[in-house]
Amino acid sequence: NPSTAPLTIIGTGMAGVGLARAIRSRDGERPITLISADSGDEYTKPLLSSAFAKRQTPQSLVMHDAVDLAATLKARVRTRTPIDAIDTAGRRLRIGAETLPYGQLVLATGAAPWQPFEVASSLRDRVFQINDLDDYRRLRGVLDRHPGQRARIVIIGAGLVGCEFANDLSAGGHRIALVAPEPTPLPRLLPPPLGRALGEAFAEAGIRGYFERQVAALHDDGDGVALVLDDGEALAADLVLFATGLRPRTALAEAAGLAVSPAGILTDCRLATSAPEIFALGDVACVDGLGASAGGVSAMYVQPLQAAVKALAATLTGTPTEVSYGAWPVVVKTPLLPVVALPPREPPHHWRIEGEAGDFSALAEDQAGRLLGFALTGRCVRRKVELARAAPPLLG
Ligand code: FAD
Repeated sequence: NPSTAPLTIIGTGMAGVGLARAIRSRDGERPITLISADSGDEYTKPLLSSAFAKRQTPQSLVMHDAVDLAATLKARVRTRTPIDAIDTAGRRLRIGAETLPYGQLVLATGAAPWQPFEVASSLRDRVFQINDLDDYRRLRGVLDRHPGQRARIVIIGAGLVGCEFANDLSAGGHRIALVAPEPTPLPRLLPPPLGRALGEAFAEAGIRGYFERQVAALHDDGDGVALVLDDGEALAADLVLFATGLRPRTALAEAAGLAVSPAGILTDCRLATSAPEIFALGDVACVDGLGASAGGVSAMYVQPLQAAVKALAATLTGTPTEVSYGAWPVVVKTPLLPVVALPPREPPHHWRIEGEAGDFSALAEDQAGRLLGFALTGRCVRRKVELARAAPPLLG
């Protein structure tokens, strides 16, 4: 019976740990093993990009360490243990020379930061990507070494992660420059007038924006980083943060022959992958991407992840359950100008934009004027609930 077989979960992010906890609350006995390449510390990833201004240390973000986690979940937790391969026919994992059998397997391996170019190893202490607590510990290790000193930080990329860190580190007293190829910040969430409003709020707070620019070269200049932009302008930085996007970690699944796409490991509506007894959820999964309605939804946010946790916990404890997502907007943590957005799944026929002076509402509509998504800034964010009720669900 699959629902009593030992369950192995790869990944101890919000997806892996959330699933283990949800299964444990439905079944007190089933053997569960959690395996992670990282420390296994349980933390809430979205807090990383608002911790600096709140003076939270990386350690204060740890809710449970791996030992605690194992005890509270009555699970085996193996940390710093990257899985090398999955043998789907033999139902076992390869970890170095060791093989480990599984009954059912869940891939919750998340997404990895993508960087447009390699950086010299001599810059390792000055160039960062922040996608987990270990990354954040490294950054804070450097920033906190000189308390009170205002570091010059160049952030490359103006998506959610780049903008949130720009706001947080600026609020924490650092001098920020934001470089991005697009004309305005948050290009995938905000139509240009709203993006401009955010750029202006950033500029008023002293964050220098270099939009429609790319970094052409980056090198060690002895006591910092020298950057050259594609128009020849030079920037000097103490630290550089790449926030140039995330790619689902599909390599393990792909090498094992599972169906994947650039959007993630393809699953059906019950989060089953193309291989028997293997499931996927969280940032690594592209849900409903298997089968006829191909395309799938790769929503790399917490609310869809939590819905997936709930549905998969039910499925894995004997009640097959499809996951569905509501019209869940993303709340961007940029207190300099509050932003809420529900990006439409397809480019809209038009955006209907109203507002002024930072308070904008933008409705993405189809040709017939039906609401497909929305973006709100400033005081208009209070329209979030009303508009979410009228918008189509992300999935289901
Ligand atoms: P991860 O947290 O990436 O976990 C992946 C796990 O898999 C890790 O434990 C890793 O060690 C392990 N792993 C990977 N490969 C292997 C391997 N081969 N062997 C063993 N283990 C492996 N979302 C929101 O909804 N709201 C927000 O405000 C928000 N803010 C964010 C701010 C930041 C700075 C970032 C980076 C993201 C933010 N997000 C936000 C997105 C949200 O945090 C993610 O969607 C969510 O945390 C993903 O969780 P996950 O468990 O799928 O992946």
